[in-house]
Amino acid sequence: MGRVNEMFGSMVFNDATMREKLPKETYKALKKTIQNGKGLDPAIASSVATAMKDWALERGATHYTHWFQPMTGVTAEKHDGFIAPTDDGGAIMEFSGKELIKGEPDASSFPSGGLRATFEARGYTAWDPTSYAFIKDGTLYIPTAFCSYGGEALDKKTPLLRSIEAINKQAMRVLKLFGNEDVKNIVTTVGAEQEYFLVDRKYFDQRNDLIYCGRTLFGAMPPKGQELDDHYFGSIKTRVKAYMRDLDDELWKLGVLAKTEHNEAAPAQHELAPIYTSTNIATDHNQLTMEIMKRVAERHGMVCLLHEKPFEGINGSGKHNNWSISTDTGVNLLEPGKLPHENAQFITFLCAVIKAVDDYQDMLRISAASAGNDHRLGANEAPPAIISMFLGDELTEILEAIEGGTEYEGTGKRELEIGVHVLPHFAQDTTDRNRTSPFAFTGNKFEFRMVGSSFSISGPNIVLNTAIAEVLKQFADELEQVDTDNFNAALNKLIKRTIKKHKRIIFNGNGYGDEWVEEAEKRGLLNLPTTPDALPEFINAKNIKLFTDHKVFTEAEMHSRYEILIENYCKVMGIEANTMVSMAKKYIFPSVTAYIKDLSNTVNELKAAVPTALSTAETELIITLSSLLNTMYEDNKKLEKLSADATKISDLQQRANYYRDNIIPYMAKVRASADELELITAKKYWPMPTYGDLIYKV
Ligand code: ADP
Ligand code: MG
Repeated sequence: MGRVNEMFGSMVFNDATMREKLPKETYKALKKTIQNGKGLDPAIASSVATAMKDWALERGATHYTHWFQPMTGVTAEKHDGFIAPTDDGGAIMEFSGKELIKGEPDASSFPSGGLRATFEARGYTAWDPTSYAFIKDGTLYIPTAFCSYGGEALDKKTPLLRSIEAINKQAMRVLKLFGNEDVKNIVTTVGAEQEYFLVDRKYFDQRNDLIYCGRTLFGAMPPKGQELDDHYFGSIKTRVKAYMRDLDDELWKLGVLAKTEHNEAAPAQHELAPIYTSTNIATDHNQLTMEIMKRVAERHGMVCLLHEKPFEGINGSGKHNNWSISTDTGVNLLEPGKLPHENAQFITFLCAVIKAVDDYQDMLRISAASAGNDHRLGANEAPPAIISMFLGDELTEILEAIEGGTEYEGTGKRELEIGVHVLPHFAQDTTDRNRTSPFAFTGNKFEFRMVGSSFSISGPNIVLNTAIAEVLKQFADELEQVDTDNFNAALNKLIKRTIKKHKRIIFNGNGYGDEWVEEAEKRGLLNLPTTPDALPEFINAKNIKLFTDHKVFTEAEMHSRYEILIENYCKVMGIEANTMVSMAKKYIFPSVTAYIKDLSNTVNELKAAVPTALSTAETELIITLSSLLNTMYEDNKKLEKLSADATKISDLQQRANYYRDNIIPYMAKVRASADELELITAKKYWPMPTYGDLIYKV
């Protein structure tokens, strides 16, 4: 076996390990639980726990932890030793079924959005057997869901698992109608491409904005930005290569299928793409990936930035959520087939996605909304804040032919009737235009590109799974009413109606242009430019109905999540405003005044030495510097006051709006003066590393 073979998944209690280590009956029972979501017998849990512990001890583990995903967006853990005392004063290594299944961390320090007021402070974690346990740093990690004692979800995993169940249930109904008797369940699959920046640790440490906010609040553009496009897919620097190599090793050990690593568009920006897997595992893996990326960077004297927009004027970072549906028999339901009935099925699922994206534009937008991503969406390198779908010209033409009952001209004349005709084969669209679309069909999957680089992909996939489950439910409700003889006719009617009603969401043009904003408005598509604009839609009647109908969220959970999200926005904005104010006062003002002082002394000394000497340059510079400094000083004072005022607004939505309307414009003003000052202040006075240092000196 090669090095990679040996290493891959070596720290994961995966299927192969389970088969090897578990008693046969236990393995079978566990497998059933994993595949069909059946409850687990406590005796089985105990047997699994023992095998897991022995396996972990063999690999040097001494502790175990329930690993969960609270609403903070990062993962949480609480380590316990396997050790237990014996009667004779010794110790043995123990791990019971009970300890595997359930943990009781104190929930009171995690965000609950008001759920804590009505429920106990205690929470519990429950083993998720559908995601494999793994060993990291001498600890056995057990993926878990995190709930309040009343059973309300306090995390990002619980609703994701519920949404997977919801789409499974509805997709199975539709699959039955197409005669798929052999399919027992479906899963949604996800490959999350991750963009990130690497900067040198020594520069990072000298910038409070990076330390506190993860992004730069100041910084003039260097003479060379990304205009030459010479970084994208360019050769990777030795230091970065060593980093990527190390990162792959770490991820492979944990069973993360990191596959492609390349440079991105901006200097110092890179991307990691994993091979897709089931949504639950992909979500856990993406959390691990982000954590390990940061950790490995430290070992290499660098810092990994996962913020959506670390540098103004330079491409931001996103996460591309590639999504599809697969049957347990290995069929990708978004893969066009070769036979008429396969294609009828493909078009049905495709139309379900189209309708879901149109009906729940607001929820998809919200699933990508955060203070950080607001700087990226709508900027000229990222998808706009408007949700639309790219299908490519060919597939769009096919849908038009179906809708109109007209002939399709693509590859020879023919009529298209669903369930009767084979669809013409269409190649994956290779144009550039799909890159500007927030939601692109890429041949056999959809790529949701709006998601921010620091996000958990849980949110976007909860929305996709649930919205599409709802549409599949509507389709099944309708089609189950007709008998086999009339099925094709009924399906044709349904598909035509769906295309007609929802084709406004399809847009194959350039999503970066201003014309699209106008066109989208004409089509009646939603444009929610900022997070405070988008979030209130989370709790509108339509969305509450969607998530409660499919038992993904209770109404109380939705209100709590809205509150957590809006509060998070306010907190981030508050931290950024205060960091800016303090950096201006503590670093920029003193530096610029020192420079002014030295220039003034120069003028005085010069005049004393040579009374007739010219000092135009110094004098002009002093005037410009002090004028900019005054403007910046006044704006900064105002910003400080506004920031203090914001915290007095008790209604969170109003506070968020206040940040959007008042704080952000003042931050832009302070920054504009500072960046101009940076350009004319001598390097040795400027108090922090520049953009040039940060993005070119890795
Ligand atoms: P691209 O489409 O960008 O040229 P790939 O086809 O390799 O590149 O896919 C990009 C990402 O999409 C990868 O993470 C890949 O694993 C993922 N992907 C491919 N097929 C599927 C699928 N059926 N479901 C979910 N993700 C998928
Ligand atoms: Mg991609």
